[in-house]
Amino acid sequence: MVLGKQGAGKGTQCVRLSHHYVVPHVSSGDMLRAAVKSRAELGLRAQVLMDQGELVSDELIMEMVGQRLAQPDVRLRGFVLDGCPRTITQAEMLDELLAPETLDLVIDLEVPTHLVLRRLAARRVCVDCGTNYSVSSPPALKGICDVCGGEVVQREDDTEEAIGRRLELYERQTAPLLHFYRRANLLAIVNGTGAADAVTRRVVRVIDEHLMDDRGRPRSERA
Ligand code: ADP
Repeated sequence: MVLGKQGAGKGTQCVRLSHHYVVPHVSSGDMLRAAVKSRAELGLRAQVLMDQGELVSDELIMEMVGQRLAQPDVRLRGFVLDGCPRTITQAEMLDELLAPETLDLVIDLEVPTHLVLRRLAARRVCVDCGTNYSVSSPPALKGICDVCGGEVVQREDDTEEAIGRRLELYERQTAPLLHFYRRANLLAIVNGTGAADAVTRRVVRVIDEHLMDDRGRPRSERA
C-alpha cells in the first residue's frame, strides 16, 4: 500500500508498481471518478465532496474497496492499494477485510509541501485511463493521452481551494496512519522527490528488500 500527501506521486508510482509486479492497481480515487463518470448512485453521492476536496465517508469507501478486494484477480495475485486507507477508521476496516491476511508493506512517499503544491497546480490527467501528465511533461499531442487517446484535462478538484483543503485533511486524518503502520511494523518511508523513474527505483528496492528472500524469491504471494 502506498501513502503520501496529495501530489506526492502516489498515483503515478502505484501504476508503475502494478506493472512492475504484474498485480492489479486498486485506487479509491480512480474508482470514485469512474463512478462519477458512469453516473452511478455512489458517484453522485461522492462528487460534491470530491470537488470540494472533502473526504468521502469511510463506509462508502470501504464498501467500494472491499468489493474490489474480494475479486479473484486481487485474491490470486495481490494488489497495490492507492489512496486508501485515508483515516484510522478505514485502516481498521481494511484490517478486518483482509483478515486473516495482512498488508505486506506500507510505503510513505515523502515530499515537502511546497513541492506538492507546485506539482498539483501543474497536474493534468487523462479522463479515461487516469494517466498523469504535467504542464512540464505533457502528452505528445496536446490534450490527448499517449496511452489511450483519451482527453487530458486539469482535474475539477485541482483548484487552489480544494488542494488546500485536501492537504489540511491529510495532516489531520491521514498523517496519523504513519504512526498506526509504524506500530504494526509495516511502514517504509521513501524519498518521493526527483524524477519519477528515480522514485520508482527507490520504491522497488525497498519492496524487494522486504518481500523477497535472499535468493530473490517472494516471501509471500502478495505484493
Ligand atoms: P489525491 O491524491 O490527489 O487527493 P485521489 O484520486 O486519491 O486524489 O482522491 C480524490 C478524491 O476522492 C479525494 O479528495 C476524496 O474526496 C476522495 N477519496 C479518494 N479516496 C478516498 C478515501 N480513501 N477516503 C475518503 N475519500 C477518498
